[in-house]
Amino acid sequence: MTAAPEILSLLKSHFGFDRFLPLQEEIVTNVLAGNDSLVLMPTGGGKSLCYQLPALAMDGYTLVVSPLIALMKDQVDALRVSGISAAFVNSTLSNQENEGVLRRASEGDLKILYVAPERLTTPRLRHFLNSSPPSLIAIDEAHCISEWGHDFRPDYRNLKILRIEFPGVPVIALTATATEEVRRDIVGQLGLQDAGSYISSFNRPNLTYTVKPKQQAFGLLIELIGRHENQSAIVYCFSRKETENLAADLSSNGIAALPYHAGLEPSVRRATQDRFIRDETSVIVATIAFGMGIDKPDVRLVVHYDLPKTVEGYYQETGRAGRDGQPSECVLFYSFSDKIKQDFFIRQIEDNDKRRHAAEKLAKMVEYGELRTCRRRFLLGYFGEEWKSQNGDGCGGCDVCLAVNEEFDATEIAQKILSAVLRTGERFGASHVIDVLRGSKAKRVRELGHDQLSVHGIAAEKSADELRQLFGLLQDAKFVAKSPGEYPVFLVTRAGREFLRNRDSLTLARPPRAEEPRSRYRATSENGVFEYDHELFEQLRALRTRIAKVRDVPAFVIFADATLREMAYYLPHDGDAFGAISGVGATKLQQFADEFIGVIVKYSSQRNLSQRDSPGHRRTSRGSPSRNRSSSNATLDATRRLFSEGCSVDEIAHERSISPRTVFGHLERIARSDPGFDLGSVMPSPDRTEAIEAALRSNESGFLTPTKEALGDDYSYEEIRLVRLQMERDFEKAEA
Ligand code: ADP
Ligand code: ZN
Repeated sequence: MTAAPEILSLLKSHFGFDRFLPLQEEIVTNVLAGNDSLVLMPTGGGKSLCYQLPALAMDGYTLVVSPLIALMKDQVDALRVSGISAAFVNSTLSNQENEGVLRRASEGDLKILYVAPERLTTPRLRHFLNSSPPSLIAIDEAHCISEWGHDFRPDYRNLKILRIEFPGVPVIALTATATEEVRRDIVGQLGLQDAGSYISSFNRPNLTYTVKPKQQAFGLLIELIGRHENQSAIVYCFSRKETENLAADLSSNGIAALPYHAGLEPSVRRATQDRFIRDETSVIVATIAFGMGIDKPDVRLVVHYDLPKTVEGYYQETGRAGRDGQPSECVLFYSFSDKIKQDFFIRQIEDNDKRRHAAEKLAKMVEYGELRTCRRRFLLGYFGEEWKSQNGDGCGGCDVCLAVNEEFDATEIAQKILSAVLRTGERFGASHVIDVLRGSKAKRVRELGHDQLSVHGIAAEKSADELRQLFGLLQDAKFVAKSPGEYPVFLVTRAGREFLRNRDSLTLARPPRAEEPRSRYRATSENGVFEYDHELFEQLRALRTRIAKVRDVPAFVIFADATLREMAYYLPHDGDAFGAISGVGATKLQQFADEFIGVIVKYSSQRNLSQRDSPGHRRTSRGSPSRNRSSSNATLDATRRLFSEGCSVDEIAHERSISPRTVFGHLERIARSDPGFDLGSVMPSPDRTEAIEAALRSNESGFLTPTKEALGDDYSYEEIRLVRLQMERDFEKAEA
């Protein structure tokens, strides 16, 4: 299914994208055809666009139900910055404010209305919905409807009424949780009819998965965070106390980190989230309570300092890294003693079924920690997705696939381990056998008489961790097998017995023990990696932060990191080139092009860099690159001719049917490329010029927004830009 050209042009004009991500096009088309849709995509898959784009294309407004009250404001801010009228109704607003929003909606003034699920049962909202029915209903985080999900919200059960009361309105349900049970529940509970089902791969190609032994973990953590300096990181811990201790330790090592857990005052929690979202604190040390309300696209590092309880949880938490598709890292610190710590809590569970369930889930997590095959394949396999690497050469993005294994002679140690398993009667898990091998005098060893066995202490020189790793390798080699169940024991297989009997030799391979060079972990997927100018990127980031502060919105609402990287690569010098950058839509072009181009042009001229042609496909919707170029030169020439004939900006605009802003833009471009071009007649009066110059000088960044604020409403952006341009030209002349 391909979308109509109007839809593609909305995609560019409002969201700034030239192409759809996988499945988006099919989903949008299905929604616009009036059908129900069920969308299962991992975090970062681009779900929001699946209802936001149809919302723009349809008459009336789209109702979005979301449990994430804390996120609504950011989502709405982001839509508004993209020129889409949106608002939300929830408990953070006063009655009067909510009322105002509903009034705007009924007057047809809104395209997208977010509501919290509990609102739907209030008489006021029912009345509103009945008098102004939506054109499309989107249910975000749809798994919240299912008791099988990890995040059941009783209020979601009320969503049934939407289908009953608005049988003709298409519904789109979206979630990043993929289990079969949950999927069935969503369809049943919401009463979806003949819903198109869209399930994308849950692979997150931009994430790298690494497991580190939990030894000297703190030092490693500092190094990891250091590698991601000035980038957002989340460190997950098991308990509230640990989050506080670890955050304090990091702080005393000069890393600004804040703790986050459910025991903190709501106001403190909110402040911490805000600081994180607004890039004022880069590291959050949290229990799993942190995350549900976080939609930060540029988290670059997620560390699990302690072992998670389930693979579902682990996948979900690591999923918060790299939503924007840029390379990001997920690191688990693994130790078996963490498993034992968790066992303690599992044993307290009274219900037999629930206890067994919890133990099985934990066992899978332990398996992940001890895995010696591709971690990505394991994670996806856990969710029923059979994943194969493209080149058959591993995923290229997990420590196992990236490590070059070292071979070693394992004959003797394998004989010792297998003998110990046999001598202890094949009735124990690895821990006990390891105790025996290392010569432990623990009570249990003595009680069982295992300190009397010939194998007691025969591998005393090995660490418990190394022996545990060897158990794993022997399991891979199918010399031992683990029995299923809550208390697995190791058995020696037929192959293992033959190995002992025949006195064969054995070579095994394991990852080298020394720390690997960093670059190994850097070499992740191709996704989004190209050689942009890092210094310029930082300058653009700084500009973005300033603009975001002035507008009181999170920085990513202005532009995503990926968009800034493209700018720092293509170095767009004019509006056309700037508009061709992915992530720059018409509204953002109009609002931000000048300031960003200003920084880029300045930076490029200092270093003698010139604009790079953006890839051809970006231009295809607007004509070929060459045509584009010649037509824009023709348009500059036309403006120039009229200007030199003495026409004013307004006259030129009128004559040429373009906006005065565009005329200013043309004049600027001409002035930049031609040092002899005289701007004289459009320059502000001398005293105004002087005031603007003073304001520009007193804010050394030369940014427009703060300058405009200092000068007040009496001065226009155009005037400030002209004066800034004139200053730059004077400066260049003086230099020359
Ligand atoms: P999800 O809700 O599935 O986690 P989002 O809707 O937040 O994902 O989108 C993830 C990221 O992908 C956002 O940064 C978004 O701007 C970007 N994105 C969405 N659609 C496209 C597209 N067609 N082209 C490029 N980037 C896109
Ligand atoms: Zn792998």
